[in-house]
Amino acid sequence: MNLHEYQAKEIFARYGIPVPQGQLAESPEAARAAAKQLGGERFVVKAQVHAGGRGKAGGVKLVEGYDAVEEAAKKMLGQRLVTKQTGAEGLPINSVWIEKPSAIARELYVSALVDRSRERIVFMASAAGGMDIEEVAAHTPERIKHVYVHPAAGLQPYQARQLGFFMGLTKAQVDQFTRILMGLYRIFTELDAALVEINPLIVTADGDVMALDAKLNFDSNALFRQKAIAEMRDFSQEDEREREASKYDLNYVTLDGDIGCMVNGAGLAMATMDIVKLHGGRPANFLDVGGGTTAEKVTEAFKLITKSPDVKAIFINIFGGIVRCDLIAEGIIQACRQVGLKIPVVARLQGTNMDKGREMLKASGLAITPVEDLTEAAKTVVALAKGA
Ligand code: ADP
Ligand code: MG
Repeated sequence: MNLHEYQAKEIFARYGIPVPQGQLAESPEAARAAAKQLGGERFVVKAQVHAGGRGKAGGVKLVEGYDAVEEAAKKMLGQRLVTKQTGAEGLPINSVWIEKPSAIARELYVSALVDRSRERIVFMASAAGGMDIEEVAAHTPERIKHVYVHPAAGLQPYQARQLGFFMGLTKAQVDQFTRILMGLYRIFTELDAALVEINPLIVTADGDVMALDAKLNFDSNALFRQKAIAEMRDFSQEDEREREASKYDLNYVTLDGDIGCMVNGAGLAMATMDIVKLHGGRPANFLDVGGGTTAEKVTEAFKLITKSPDVKAIFINIFGGIVRCDLIAEGIIQACRQVGLKIPVVARLQGTNMDKGREMLKASGLAITPVEDLTEAAKTVVALAKGA
């Protein structure tokens, strides 16, 4: 689960990490009022969306005077911001963060996440902040330094100092940086974060270290014990279909292809996407309806898949283990009738009561092609999606 920059900065401030003073606004008038309260001549207006890359996409504006603040806010609010990280649809800008500008001497980078293979939290730092860190990692990896945190000892100040001196900070700045890093570590562990990132972490013209941007991502599996974090969730920033799917306990992820996949079991779902790709198709989604699924869940899953205008064909691949194939067939038929099926469906049912399930599909009179062999089924659905 992601937070907005302004929410992450509130948390930073609570943990002693210096951030610029700012205020949230949901209308141009409120933006003007916020600027007045902050005082001064110049302001930064920042679109609040769950994505980085806003600066290059026009989502961060440095302006002078209250009129300009109001104008900038008006241009952003109600629009969708498309950045390198959002995909073509972009994300809705429902609020802007008005901030005092900082005089920047240097832009640095720092982040922390879990390194799964080492089973440790890793902190990364680089003097190449403010830019695309993936580019830095790809072309000049020596400009990023890693330190790994021992789970029993926790982050040690000497590790923070190693990163600080690596980035060429002065002794006084390293002390500030160490406090920032200890704060980040506390945030990471106390709040069950999955990723914390400051890009850029700046050195101001006065020589102080400060977080100019803030990104926090949390482990969704821990939200049950992080009530305060869970309450900050902004559903408007999340994929509508994924949100809908979570209501019915379906594991669903939107992808950018044109073959809708309905599968039970995450392993089979992965294998299904692989074989679709192998035969030249592109899955429109990952969908695991679960092991002990019901006809109702199948219906909802089907509706979800057919909602996307990009889907040109549907591939149903079900193994009846715990669930019975006739039950799945019933769900499919129900769903096809409810949504008014307009695209071809290939169904592969294997396992318990498969004969009964196939017969039900055949008797339904719907345009569903039953295929028993997996390779054959994949080839068929790829051909159908291509309009064959
Ligand atoms: P994003 O990562 O989404 O592009 P950032 O918050 O990192 O957004 O802002 C992009 C750039 O805008 C920063 O690298 C920095 O140069 C500038 N910037 C952002 N906030 C401020 C601020 N308060 N004062 C001065 N410059 C800022
Ligand atoms: Mg940034």
